[in-house]
Amino acid sequence: IRWTEGRGWHDAQLTPYAPLEIDPANMTLHYGQSIFEGLKAYRQADGSIATFRPEANAARFQASARRLAMPELPVETFVEAVELLVRQDRDWVPSEPEQSLYLRPFMFATEVGLGVRPANSYLFMIIASPAGAYFSGGVKPVSVWLSEDYVRAAPGGTGAAKCAGNYAASLVAQAEAAAKGCDQVVWLDANEHKWVEEMGGMNLYFVLGEGEDATVLTPELSGSLLPGITRDSLLALAADLGYGTEERRISTDEWKRGNADGAITEVFACGTAAVITPVGHVKSAGADWTVGTGEPGPVTLRLRESLLAIQGGQTPDTHGWMHTIA
Ligand code: PMP
Repeated sequence: IRWTEGRGWHDAQLTPYAPLEIDPANMTLHYGQSIFEGLKAYRQADGSIATFRPEANAARFQASARRLAMPELPVETFVEAVELLVRQDRDWVPSEPEQSLYLRPFMFATEVGLGVRPANSYLFMIIASPAGAYFSGGVKPVSVWLSEDYVRAAPGGTGAAKCAGNYAASLVAQAEAAAKGCDQVVWLDANEHKWVEEMGGMNLYFVLGEGEDATVLTPELSGSLLPGITRDSLLALAADLGYGTEERRISTDEWKRGNADGAITEVFACGTAAVITPVGHVKSAGADWTVGTGEPGPVTLRLRESLLAIQGGQTPDTHGWMHTIA
């Protein structure tokens, strides 16, 4: 779907996957107006196909557009485009557990010209691809590197938007994490380098206490971390399962101390691609520690099973999260 100044949204098309031709002076290549989303279509237990909270992705896409001075695609148009593509690709939606059709809506500037200002034309597209588990090894815990040299986002910046530049800025830190033998980067706040924000493509949760009395805690939306849809859903799901929930700042010191004295029993990451993945080991310039037992914890696994059961249509969708398409 195209957007042109003075004309608005026009020319919706459903076309086979094909390369795009890009002018060397395309403004996106120079000034980076590029935003995206990620969501999945799941085969349901009854054979139908549904997506998970597409309206939430559409709303976040609008927020990202506002932050990058781009036009806002109406929520209904975003959801209709998702429906159209999924219906077309219905045979590509896998039925094996934990597999799905990954959808990547995105928008970028199409105006040709040099000069820093919002472009006067844009293209919104969605591509689809069958996807398996994000991390090979299923629920094998990942190791994380606390990045103290680099920050992903600063107050007033674009951290809460899902824009391409955030990911470009994260690549050297991800390479640093890999060089330290870690799977992922944990980002800290830009001012004090001590408050835990999120991971590369996932939000973080801490489990305080054990069993029925456990509380799940996630860093509050600071303005510089992405408001994950999985993060938001888990606050509701954890409450449904009888756990306490908390959104507040948590420091690396509290994490290290809580891990040592048993106050923090489990830590996991969550996102559309990664679902729920346990964090097993932490490395930083100053200290290393194993999270809890280093094995996937019971609260992590219970939340993971509950979320997957809703997404797969095996349990009642009491929150109305599933959007049936075909
Ligand atoms: N943080 C970042 C930086 C991400 O890229 C993602 C993936 N969209 C998330 C968190 C998790 O968000 P969601 O649960 O909406 O997939």
